[in-house]
Amino acid sequence: MIIVMAPHATPEQIADVEQRIQEWGYGVHPIYGAERTVIGAVGVPDADKAAYQEQLESLDCVERVIPILRPYKFVSREYHPQGTIVRVGDAEIGGDEIVVMAGPCTVESYEKTLDTARAVKAAGARVLRGGAFKPCTSPYSFQGLGMEGLRILQAVSRETGLPVITEVMDPRAVETVCEHAHILQIGTRNMQNYDLLREVGRARTPVLLKRGMWARIEEWLQAAEYVMLGGNHSVLLCERGIRTFETYTRNTLDLSAVPAAKELSHLPVVVDPSQGTGHRHLVGPMTRAAVACGADALLIEVHPHPDRAIKDGAQTVNHEAFRQLMAECRAIAAAVGRQIRPPE
Ligand code: PEP
Ligand code: MN
Repeated sequence: MIIVMAPHATPEQIADVEQRIQEWGYGVHPIYGAERTVIGAVGVPDADKAAYQEQLESLDCVERVIPILRPYKFVSREYHPQGTIVRVGDAEIGGDEIVVMAGPCTVESYEKTLDTARAVKAAGARVLRGGAFKPCTSPYSFQGLGMEGLRILQAVSRETGLPVITEVMDPRAVETVCEHAHILQIGTRNMQNYDLLREVGRARTPVLLKRGMWARIEEWLQAAEYVMLGGNHSVLLCERGIRTFETYTRNTLDLSAVPAAKELSHLPVVVDPSQGTGHRHLVGPMTRAAVACGADALLIEVHPHPDRAIKDGAQTVNHEAFRQLMAECRAIAAAVGRQIRPPE
């Protein structure tokens, strides 16, 4: 359950409530806001809850108690009805602006990454994407530049002022990736890697959690709960396509998951139309559709010469196509009451 304290509740009263729920066996997860404190209480069997709720509601310092019956609590919309805003650099993800993150699938060199970073920034992107550690189905494919890739991303970020998002695959690498990047990406293959989720939950760097290609929406939200339970409340949910019987597309981009996740959760929702389709000619239409259906951010693969990209070239757009796509998306964003950063 979630206990919303009255605005006039004193620190002593808050401590008293925390002590009561702790004694009942709950895990206590308070958020001390500027106006009021909200306490998340988790982990007690449903059967015992009614009496505890009644006792708390009788206290003058408690405004209301919200029982949450879903298998995720902190992730649920009830916990934070107004919607969460995740701040990255000077970008706010989850507000009126649709934040665009763009860049190569994998970092190849400093020069190419800088070239793309400048191009996507000029076109309106706010965050640079790029993989240093690449999860690969085949152990024989290129696995990413690793540490060198992280150093390139950091250097390009400093040069351009763009924050960077990159994937972390190994719980032991979380600290290092946090030192080089501004958003930690959890890839589709790792959505249920619970040790990794717990580790990024201990970090205070925002996390972008890709939906597992096999995962139901509820499982995806439960994975996000692992991160939030660790105390990291800056979580972005990313729809990147799921496996269906269709083989024409690489994945089936499930855009209905966008409004669904936004209804169930307060977390911002990101769409990745690149992994979501696998084909460059489908990236534009699906990006426009993502803007129309309520995405808070976009994650798009861009490369100076997609035909020569080491990874995912078929689903990658070039600099000019990206610039044009941003212009089209701005018109759609305006029609649904949102904005995308203007070109420089
Ligand atoms: C990627 O963003 O390049 C990537 C590997 O994503 P996913 O985990 O969605 O396949
Ligand atoms: Mn990719």
